[in-house]
Amino acid sequence: MWAVGIHGGAGPLRDSDIDQQQAELESVIAWAEAELKRGARALDVVEGAVRRMEDSGQFVAGRGAGPNTEGQYELDASICDGPTRNCGAVAALAGVYPPISIARAVMERTTHVMLAGDGARRFALENGFTAIDDPKIFFQPRPHTLKADHGTVGAVAIDDSGAIAAGTSTGGTSGKRPGRVGDSPIVGAGTWADDIVGVSCTGQGEFFIRAAAAHSVAARARDPKTSLTPILPDVLAEVKALGGTGGIIAVDRSGLVTYAFTTESMRVGLASSAGQREIVIAVQ
Ligand code: ASP
Repeated sequence: MWAVGIHGGAGPLRDSDIDQQQAELESVIAWAEAELKRGARALDVVEGAVRRMEDSGQFVAGRGAGPNTEGQYELDASICDGPTRNCGAVAALAGVYPPISIARAVMERTTHVMLAGDGARRFALENGFTAIDDPKIFFQPRPHTLKADHGTVGAVAIDDSGAIAAGTSTGGTSGKRPGRVGDSPIVGAGTWADDIVGVSCTGQGEFFIRAAAAHSVAARARDPKTSLTPILPDVLAEVKALGGTGGIIAVDRSGLVTYAFTTESMRVGLASSAGQREIVIAVQ
């Protein structure tokens, strides 16, 4: 039994992007499916799926990230391994790439959970990650990135051994101040994985932090009488009551992968050994 879900952010619908983003989601899901079928670990699939979306430049993460108000590119990412409850994160990372793999390296090569700013950059360079020589050439924000308020990528997966993982990566919100950190690198806000669920959120991060959204999904999922299907809209309603919109994708240990959103649209791909398969720019 295996399942995977990916998202490319929740926000306004932009007709011009639909075909390319849908093709990217399709190719990432096809890759993740093949990996899980051949017995790959959920953690590797989550990292690989997020990394592919970062590299694609199609989303407001990785190469598609937009600059902050001073023209710098500061990226946030986190990854969680359910069985060990290990996690790693980078915040306001600049000058080095790729964020999701650097977050994983923080998890696996340090005793810390999160590194931020210049310390994160130095750690990444010491560990052989790629320096970005010219951010203006490396980053290719799509025109809408500069005015859209949302965009992030994320993945959740359960593998054949029942291990669950989740990861999220973002360029953050448009018009952010230097040093601003959203929910994506904050374990329990933007990302979570344990023995029961894997969760990745997207939306106005300040509100997801205030709702501890990803952990709120996990805490509710501990009740055996409920399922992710009502839990995700409930948590999004809590985020909305605080003033924020966005979306959540999650997988549980039964292999159900599901999503919900309160924005106009959300970019999603799902597949599972039980026959779930959906690649959609979903609209309310
Ligand atoms: N949640 C991200 C942040 O606040 C943005 C997004 O998901 O679009 O940085």
